[in-house]
Amino acid sequence: MFYFTESVRFFGNTNPEKLIQRYGSPLYVYSETILRDRIHEMQNLLQDDTFVVNYSIKTNSNLEILKIALEEGLSADAMSPGEIHVLLEAGFPADRIFFVANNISEEEMQYAIDRNILISLDCVAQIEQFGKINPGGRCAVRLNPGIGAGHHKKVVTAGKNTKFSVSEEDVDAAIQTAGKYNLQIIGVNQHIGSLFMDSEPYTEAVKNFLSIAERFDSLEFVDFGGGFGIPYKKLSGEKSMNLSDLSVQLSSIVNEWRKGKRENISIKTEPGRYIAAECGVLLGQVHAIKNNAEEKYIGTDIGMNVLVRPSMYNSWHDIEVYRKGHPISDFECEAVTVVGNICETGDILAAQRMLPMIHQGDIICVLDAGAYGYSMASNYNNRLRPAEVMIDASGEPHLIRRRETLDDLMLLFQ
Ligand SMILES: *Cc1c(COP(=O)(O)O)cnc(C)c1O
Repeated sequence: MFYFTESVRFFGNTNPEKLIQRYGSPLYVYSETILRDRIHEMQNLLQDDTFVVNYSIKTNSNLEILKIALEEGLSADAMSPGEIHVLLEAGFPADRIFFVANNISEEEMQYAIDRNILISLDCVAQIEQFGKINPGGRCAVRLNPGIGAGHHKKVVTAGKNTKFSVSEEDVDAAIQTAGKYNLQIIGVNQHIGSLFMDSEPYTEAVKNFLSIAERFDSLEFVDFGGGFGIPYKKLSGEKSMNLSDLSVQLSSIVNEWRKGKRENISIKTEPGRYIAAECGVLLGQVHAIKNNAEEKYIGTDIGMNVLVRPSMYNSWHDIEVYRKGHPISDFECEAVTVVGNICETGDILAAQRMLPMIHQGDIICVLDAGAYGYSMASNYNNRLRPAEVMIDASGEPHLIRRRETLDDLMLLFQ
């Protein structure tokens, strides 16, 4: 087995054992170097002066990570007033926040309007609602390019079977409704889904999207959305997306589209997972090992409340096993089922996974947990959400969010 974390010196001057001794378990650990590398890769996706990369806070909302995104020049997209609030607290100026809303109330719209934050409206009814409370205002509209993509049907967000966005047939109605309230549609956006490794559906969607965008005459930006995949099976050789190919294709589509006009329309993208996933791992400890019928269970403290993706989407996360600070050799492997400590049989991190012989006390390191990891963690079973640590560029760890305490569980009752 190939150990990813060793190959990139993920843990810098420390190691999983020391980290758990110092900060407890389970523990999210991030690499500042990998985070910045991924940001730079996205910023280089399009050679275009107007190109803006948004950071999707829903993937990881740790304040330190947001500050790095801000410092690197990213803008941000938000899905809720809560995300807007945290982005403002992190220091993002209002004009670098884009509220990509879905089925929001008047109050939620007003919250964004009061803070001068641009909202993307994703159906005629929401345009109507926005127009009533903010006639003459500026807004964006989310379009459905007719093509979706993604790793699971729950996260395909364009095409036919989705609650999101204005489909081509409804564009006239959307423009008409905006006209009725003198709204200025200054941007259009799309997001076709999450975690595609193949660039074709994306470039096809971008082409359709740009052709639908023709029908809007006061655009200041077009936003291509996110969804760029990362290799979750890197230990068995899966490769990253070929961004240089994608970059060439996108550049040619954009150049063709501009052809002497539309120089002032800027291009945006909203990669979430691509930026945050690979910079994070989740460490946990093995507390019990048992056999039941044919199955060998490795019982850990990484419950579905800490990382929900495997139980929610059946997602694969690569696993490394550490003993005394070092990854253990895969000289002898066996199929085991790695589970957490939550009262639910579906609390499975990895089913029938070939792993080195694991002992009680070993440390499990779950790779690619930086996106949709902590941000989807919960207090289910009244478990405490873990701490988060960042390994800085010089290899030193820093606590960037404390572990919850039992008292935190009582906070809302005071
Ligand atoms: C979730 C989401 C993103 C980011 O998606 P990834 O798959 O993590 O890249 C971007 N834009 C919108 C509107 C989203 O809903």
